[in-house]
Amino acid sequence: MSKKESQKSEQKVKKDLGMEDENTRKARLKKLLIHKREDIVKEAREEIKKFQSGEKKQLVEAVMDEGDMSVVDLAEDISLRQLSTHRETLIKIDTALRKLHEGTYGICEECGDEINEKRLNILPFAIYCVDCQEKKEIIEKIEREEM
Ligand SMILES: [Zn+2]
Repeated sequence: MSKKESQKSEQKVKKDLGMEDENTRKARLKKLLIHKREDIVKEAREEIKKFQSGEKKQLVEAVMDEGDMSVVDLAEDISLRQLSTHRETLIKIDTALRKLHEGTYGICEECGDEINEKRLNILPFAIYCVDCQEKKEIIEKIEREEM
């Protein structure tokens, strides 16, 4: 076995045992976050482009000929809502990247426990652990129902 091969198999063993090197982990998560960020920026740009020149504008113009402004409002509203969701996710990603840099990444903002690695792999910009997230959702649900 060559030196390179033995290094490779060593890395594989570490990975299998879940003993990922901290720097490797950070680099992987950073890549994941940046990739996700690029995707969202691209999506948002396409969304804006569509709205400015493409399908949606045509829809809006067609509707305007008929003088029904409520549909225009609706189309605008949906686009803006989609964009604001993108924006919120971007803010979360930037926060995660900052935390990664500061060394506080993966720690629940509510209880200070470490966030499960599996959860971070699915949702790399999560700021709460599963327990706290569930609690928050329950509270939010109750608050909504009370209103
Ligand atoms: Zn927590």
